Amino acid sequence: MENAKGQYLKDRELMVRNQIAARGVRDSNVLNAMLNVPRHVFVGKENLSWAYADSALPIGNGQTISQPYMVAVMTELLELNKNDRVLEIGTGSGYQACVLAEIAFEVYTVERIVELQRRAVEKFDELGYRNIYSIVADGTIGWQEKAPFNKIIITAGCPDIPQGLIEQLADGVGIIVAPVGSKFTQQLLKLTKRKGGLTKGFSVSCVFVPLIGKYGWSDL
Ligand code: SAH
Repeated sequence: MENAKGQYLKDRELMVRNQIAARGVRDSNVLNAMLNVPRHVFVGKENLSWAYADSALPIGNGQTISQPYMVAVMTELLELNKNDRVLEIGTGSGYQACVLAEIAFEVYTVERIVELQRRAVEKFDELGYRNIYSIVADGTIGWQEKAPFNKIIITAGCPDIPQGLIEQLADGVGIIVAPVGSKFTQQLLKLTKRKGGLTKGFSVSCVFVPLIGKYGWSDL
């Protein structure tokens, strides 16, 4: 067991160096978080040998755990600090939520598929994360009772950023990062809210499973 743990840590060091730092992610909080969170805990037994590979992996229910590099880039774009309250739409395996929870004050994460949410909560408990709050709901309407959030991350591909989420974002400075585009290919969009004004910037191309809900794609 110890050996396996040691091997996983080595695998993570290589992952951070070769997949993440080598491609330009610089934020030391992000690099440390990626080093700390055991990604192998979030993939099924059948994928254990690929836990630190440079790719997304299936997690059941037709969904995926994102590629480590993509998790790192999105987290860096959020410019997280230790006082931030973060909203994540698309809990999936729970891996990204733990990366956020390593850096931010509190993470609120929303998932529409009950089985995935339950499994993710088990992982949060098992790993001892006490600053992650999780519900099953349609995340395209956000989490009104807990708003405003300093940062919002959508980890499913959306046609556009739902307006309700922009309203639940804190002013000066609030940041939303989301893959925006078609059902099949998207580009990371970073939206910044300052004194009510919005600025937008695009980052790398990506492929996420679709955001399905009232203000996302329909379930067909
Ligand atoms: N962040 C995840 C990967 C997410 S995959 C991780 O680290 O593993 C995208 C997830 O978004 C899927 O689990 C999918 O069920 C969920 N999803 C899609 N539409 C949603 C919606 N409207 N509200 C909440 N979750 C949604």
